[in-house]
Amino acid sequence: MIEENQPSVLIMIFGATGDLAKRKLFPSIYRLFQKEKINKFAVVGVARRELSNDEFQANVKESILTFTKEQENVDEFASHFYYHSHDVSSSESYIQLKDIADRLDSHYQLEGNRVFYLAMAPEFFGTIAEQVKEQGLTDTNGYKRLVIEKPFGHSFESALELNKRIRTAFEEDEVYRIDHYLGKEMVQNIEVIRFANALFEPLWNSRYISNIQVTSSETLGVEERGRYYETSGALRDMVQNHMLQMVALLAMEPPIRLTTEEIRSEKVRALRSLRPMTKEEVNQYFVRGQYGAGTVNQENVPEYRTEHNVDPESNTETFVAGKLMIDNFRWAGVPFYIRTGKRMDIKSTKIVVQFKDIPMNLYYNTEETLQPNLLVIHIQPEEGITLLLNAKKTGGDVKSTPVQLSYSNKSTDQLNTPEAYEKLLFASMRGDATNFTHWDEVALSWKFVDSISEVWENTKESSFPNYEAGTSGPRPADELLESDGHFWWPVENLDLEN
Ligand code: NAP
Repeated sequence: MIEENQPSVLIMIFGATGDLAKRKLFPSIYRLFQKEKINKFAVVGVARRELSNDEFQANVKESILTFTKEQENVDEFASHFYYHSHDVSSSESYIQLKDIADRLDSHYQLEGNRVFYLAMAPEFFGTIAEQVKEQGLTDTNGYKRLVIEKPFGHSFESALELNKRIRTAFEEDEVYRIDHYLGKEMVQNIEVIRFANALFEPLWNSRYISNIQVTSSETLGVEERGRYYETSGALRDMVQNHMLQMVALLAMEPPIRLTTEEIRSEKVRALRSLRPMTKEEVNQYFVRGQYGAGTVNQENVPEYRTEHNVDPESNTETFVAGKLMIDNFRWAGVPFYIRTGKRMDIKSTKIVVQFKDIPMNLYYNTEETLQPNLLVIHIQPEEGITLLLNAKKTGGDVKSTPVQLSYSNKSTDQLNTPEAYEKLLFASMRGDATNFTHWDEVALSWKFVDSISEVWENTKESSFPNYEAGTSGPRPADELLESDGHFWWPVENLDLEN
């Protein structure tokens, strides 16, 4: 059940001195406080380093001053924050943590509601879940919920193992697995665009759609995350979660109601329809890439293999392109192409839905051939929708020209657009799990991704590095579409401003 709008809650952040807490969690809780969405709340930060409550509150204030535009009532806000120095692998200090939690609970009248937010390395997830249960932190009169960051496992087997450990302490409906893409405004908009428009839903199938392209490109390299990234690569870091979640939202059947359960069950059905690949087929459907040196935003950048904590002979992919087939009545024969990479030419996440050509082209004799209709959903950094149509070219002759109808989210409500983490945190406090990933989705996505990584990890890619930093990826990613008679729509030409 989704609770009232002003939940009372104790939020326990494990990893409260880390990057995620500082850049995303404190600012998000602050915005909820400023908008009066929460007022009875307290936060306990947990990490190993020794900090007093005052020092922790000073860190929180600094984060608000650095990462938010509004800066009112910051002292009052920070006074709700407490700190407990604690190594999460030691069971002893959970007892002190319980004592702090119980005291804050009665001081702030939090009705025993607890959110355990794990903003820490994944190897600790299982231990923390088990310990909070064993030491009695989950014995409360209110709700108990576990919010857990990615990555959820490293493969299906490890995710299953982690899930078993978590489930000893929390029921499935108490586990909120974060995929922050699901908190993004335009990802949430996919369902509305599809299911609230008579213009699209009747055409949303293999009769009218030629192919769908999902691109998520970054200009950044691996930065300081070399150690993690070497064991992950783009496939686990981006495809298993964000890319497959977007595909599921694009491909799913209309839910019978907009409830968490109905939406999830349709997403699960879409993921179940993904065509499995044999080992031999993996390299026909998927392409991997690794960046070499190049120029990004006029700056020379090094190749992946010379980055910090990266093996000089690394076989890790920093780019993935793939063709997914969804074998059901709606999508038979329609390729969903996905592409994601680091050190690309632009930072952009976009979905391009390409409609089929009309049955007969009356305008073939014009100098330009007719462009197919496109629906572009701009996820980030721009948020909006563009529809590319053909209209008459101004002048005497009857000639067609492409025209663009655009809606930009920025122009209407940029300041009030809540950030993904803010929405997801608030949803977890209210018990709305719609935009979190259910175990069934995680399991299906890992099984699909495992079938690719098993092949890639066991064959050294001799062409690495195979794309220059600052480009749109390796050539085989283009050939993947060309062999089907398609091409990647150049996302840089589809910006809202163009
Ligand atoms: P981080 O900066 O390395 O922070 C790790 C935190 O864990 C620190 O507060 C650290 O504090 C604490 N810690 C480490 N070992 C501990 C132990 N044994 N006991 C208690 N505390 C311990 O990591 P992060 O970037 O915030 O990422 C956290 C999680 O979020 C990861 O799972 C990551 O994959 C995920 N994530 C992060 C981002 C992001 O933007 N940063 C985005 C998406 C997902 P002490 O050293 O003081 O103990």
